[in-house]
Order: sequence, then structure tokens, then C-alpha cells
Amino acid sequence: MEDSYRHKGMRRQLVKVLQKKGITDQRILEIIGKIPRHFFFENALVEHAYEDKAFPIGAGQTISQPYTVAFQTELLQIKPGEKVLEIGTGSGYQAMVLVDMGADLYTIEYQKVLYERTKSFLPKLGYQPNFFFGDGSKGLSRFAPFDKIIVTAGAPTVPDALIDQLNIGGCLVIPVGNQKTQQMLRVTKTDKDKIRNEVFHDFKFVPLLGSDGWK
Ligand code: SAM
Repeated sequence: MEDSYRHKGMRRQLVKVLQKKGITDQRILEIIGKIPRHFFFENALVEHAYEDKAFPIGAGQTISQPYTVAFQTELLQIKPGEKVLEIGTGSGYQAMVLVDMGADLYTIEYQKVLYERTKSFLPKLGYQPNFFFGDGSKGLSRFAPFDKIIVTAGAPTVPDALIDQLNIGGCLVIPVGNQKTQQMLRVTKTDKDKIRNEVFHDFKFVPLLGSDGWK
């Protein structure tokens, strides 16, 4: 698939939309302005690739809305070289943003078909995070601790295992609520047994499945 001037123009418009909605981190805006989101869309939907909306990617799942990707990434405040866990690889779009932010990325996906597709597609675009297949609702204990954890599906509660797998000073960004809407939370591990919770506005995610997600 080609990345034409038209696509680049549509990306510039998308970046303006994100700025209007309050995204200020220039690094994130540059990355979203660079990644060809239309590469993740099937032909019938490709014209919609630069709308600020979530779209189906198969297996009942979605590629997140660009604003959501930008907002969660902004909350993570990634410094280059940090070890980051993403729960919900999906299309791989958010993973590419995290890699471009300088993350040493571990990403886990529950749907085999998406895991396989994304694991073979991202390297073709020059991105090679560490891919895992399985239930990420309990994190990825054998590679813990992480500096940052991002959950890209809506959880019923904050899984304790994810807090346990954070370094002190690290944070977890996770949408928590019911199966229709969730509030975005940032949980920072301030000391061995201490956390600080910050609550942001509402989002709509597909459900986090698995042992610490929705059954
Ligand atoms: N980050 C993705 C992207 O950029 O396309 C977002 C994909 S979608 C909003 C959420 C993803 O979380 C889905 O692909 C879904 O299969 C996955 N998911 C749900 N429960 C999971 C679990 N327990 N472990 C790992 N992935 C999970």
C-alpha cells in the first residue's frame, strides 16, 4: 500500500484535530503525523483511516481512536529506553507509537488471529517489539518489572498483579468501568506498598478479557 501526499495531508488534519482536543506533547503529535494509519485498514474502510474514530480490525476487536492512543501515551510520559508493557496489541498501531516514543516494548494479545497478523505485519514496517500471545490481564510476570504499563481494553477493576509488576516510580494507565464506558486511571507506584490514583474522563473500550478481566 502506498503512502501518498493525500494521506500525509489527511494525517496533518488529524494532528490538528488532536491538538484541538487537548493533546500537547509534540513528540506524540509528530509520531501520529508520521505513522500511516491507513495501512491498518481493509480496503472497504481505508477512506476512514484518518477520522478520529475506532474501527473494526477483526475478531470483534478495534483499532483505538487516535485521540485515545494519544491521550494514553501522554499519560504514560515515556522516557527513551523505558521498559513498557502493552496489554492488548490489537492492530499494532499503539505499539508503533510506543516504540517511536523510545519504549523497550513488550506487547501481549489475547486473540490468536490478531497476535499472528500483527507479529508478522509490524516488522515489515520496521518495528520489532517483543510479541506475546495469551492473557495479559495478569501482566507478564516473567519479564517484570516494567517502568510503565498500558492496558488498551476496558477492565472491571485494577488487577493487583499489574501494580506488583511495576517499578517504584512507574505507572499503569488503564480504563476501568463497566462494559460500555470506562474512566481512564493512572496508577503510580510511589513506594513498595503505596500507590497514587488519578482519574481522567470517560472512554469506550472493548472489554479486557481473561482471568482478571471480564469472564
Ligand atoms: N492497542 C490496540 C491497537 O492499537 O490496535 C487496541 C486494540 S483493542 C481496543 C484492545 C485489544 O485488547 C484487543 O485486540 C483485544 O483482543 C485485546 N485484549 C482483550 N483482553 C485481553 C487480555 N486479557 N490480554 C491481552 N489482550 C487482550
